[in-house]
Amino acid sequence: MESILFLNDFFNHSSDGMLLLDPQLSALQANTAFYQLTGFKDHITPGTRFDTIFAINKDVFNHSTIVKHLQNNHVWQKAFSYENGQGETKELNVTILPLPDTANGSPGSVAIFKYYGLTTTFSDQSSTGNFDILTGLPGATIFYDRVEQALSVSRRTKQSIALLLVDLDRFAMINDGLGREYGDEVLREIAGRIKSSLRESDSAARITGDNFCLLIKVTADDHSALVAEKILKSINQPLSVGDGQVVITASIGITTAGGKNDTAELLIEHCESALHHAKKQGGNCFHFYADALNKTAKKRLELEHNLRRALEKEEFVLFYQPKVNINSGAVVGMEALIRWIHPEQGMIPPFQFIPVAEETGMIIDIGTWVLHEACRQNKQWQNEGLSKVPVAVNVSPRQFQLTTFGDEVYRAIEHSGIAPEYLELEITESMLMSNIDQTIDKLKSLTNIGLTLAIDDFGTGYSNLSYLTRFPVSTLKIDRAFIKDVEHDENIAALTRSIISMSRSLNMKIVAEGAEVKEHIDFLKEQKCNTVQGFYYSKPLPADEFAKLLKQGIRL
Ligand code: C2E
Ligand code: MG
Ligand code: MG
Repeated sequence: MESILFLNDFFNHSSDGMLLLDPQLSALQANTAFYQLTGFKDHITPGTRFDTIFAINKDVFNHSTIVKHLQNNHVWQKAFSYENGQGETKELNVTILPLPDTANGSPGSVAIFKYYGLTTTFSDQSSTGNFDILTGLPGATIFYDRVEQALSVSRRTKQSIALLLVDLDRFAMINDGLGREYGDEVLREIAGRIKSSLRESDSAARITGDNFCLLIKVTADDHSALVAEKILKSINQPLSVGDGQVVITASIGITTAGGKNDTAELLIEHCESALHHAKKQGGNCFHFYADALNKTAKKRLELEHNLRRALEKEEFVLFYQPKVNINSGAVVGMEALIRWIHPEQGMIPPFQFIPVAEETGMIIDIGTWVLHEACRQNKQWQNEGLSKVPVAVNVSPRQFQLTTFGDEVYRAIEHSGIAPEYLELEITESMLMSNIDQTIDKLKSLTNIGLTLAIDDFGTGYSNLSYLTRFPVSTLKIDRAFIKDVEHDENIAALTRSIISMSRSLNMKIVAEGAEVKEHIDFLKEQKCNTVQGFYYSKPLPADEFAKLLKQGIRL
């Protein structure tokens, strides 16, 4: 009795949509979550047959197939999409579980609905062929189904999908050498690692033995390369088996769907062929089915690999670009801008590697180096008797997020011996958007050290000026995008004028970025925007050349 009450409770309060069905697959009762998930306004009339509830193609829910499946005590699962009558298309996943027989015969089954993509992870002894008992992952049948569904959704929505086939390198050696029991343990652990490397909208399955297949939504060509890299990395972590540890590697074959005739089977074949290439390269790597994609992925991987070593090999340098007083030509400040001097490729500009450094987290070490180096160089120039002007350092969002960021800034100041007022940090509007109170505290603790803060690329974000007054920021750098058009776009000119006058009324200093020609300078002079950073005066320069400029000033 208690267990019936419990089940009743479970049914009523589950966050999964549930529909009780009789042995003929007719609806008996639905829970609240079912209506929330499906968006159905009207209650299901008891007796309505399951395959007619959602007005979709008969092939998707084939009545006799489902009944047969359940009679054989198998779980039946399908991902499907439908229109809920209110103009919304929903993508759901339904799993129908046969309920255990009672003395009165079969009580029927329960259909459980979830949003499509949320991987169901239960392992059910009776579900052979559908769910993998060892890992709890879906098996081949369900996976193929999911791929077919994803293909039909992707044709409609143009959302790209990719398939990754993961095969463990030399797994037979583990199985034979350590025994099957340990082999199973390894597979379970690897399955867990793969699962936790994926997003909720992706799915993973164990296809056969040591073959796992992943279905992911891709946002850019190299997105699947990133996922593959992440998976290889997670598999590479040492794994405890019995009393010892092993390090496992894997190979991955990748294919992206795109062709009109793509089917789950064809895509897996492509993956297999790509996997074969990866194995031939010695394993522990991935390979794309299409060559064109391989090149992008390869280039990116190479870049990442080299970037990792660039710090150790001291391949970074800082260039400095002056901020100039428009009336006197005096250098009143400088911005430190990183350059990567690659031994073969020469100088690589920041836009080519900062985004990768940002994504991989390497920006944290790189940014720390920039901070220390900029302070050290500025102090050295001051010691040499050159004019004392502040240096501005760009801060990346990842760096700024760190709770230890303030400590690092403090260390750079202490280490170099620079007076804090000679350090300015450039942050961007987007960094101020989340956790406003916390951000204000963080910024205040920085300005308490004595340094100043500037908003970089102002005008490209979403914030307005009055919003910015809440933050202890003293300078606005107007983005180059405005300055470059002031002379031939009256709207841009008007906008720039109002930014300048409003920031003046808010007591903020203004720096105009990207002035290249005399017309820009004339415009800025007219607006009494006196500090300018741009090619008109100087490009960013290596330290020795900048020192000369600092001595001589700019000849107007
Ligand atoms: P930013 O902070 O807005 O830096 C100004 C960029 O505008 C620099 O590009 C500079 O060379 C360029 N610039 C200045 N005046 C002119 C001009 O008159 N015309 C044109 N066409 N360009 C001008 P750079 O050095 O390539 O740096 C690009 C961006 O890379 C920087 O934009 C900054 O966001 C980022 N960056 C550079 N160094 C670092 C760094 O050390 N750390 C971080 N996190 N980001 C950095
Ligand atoms: Mg900057
Ligand atoms: Mg800028």
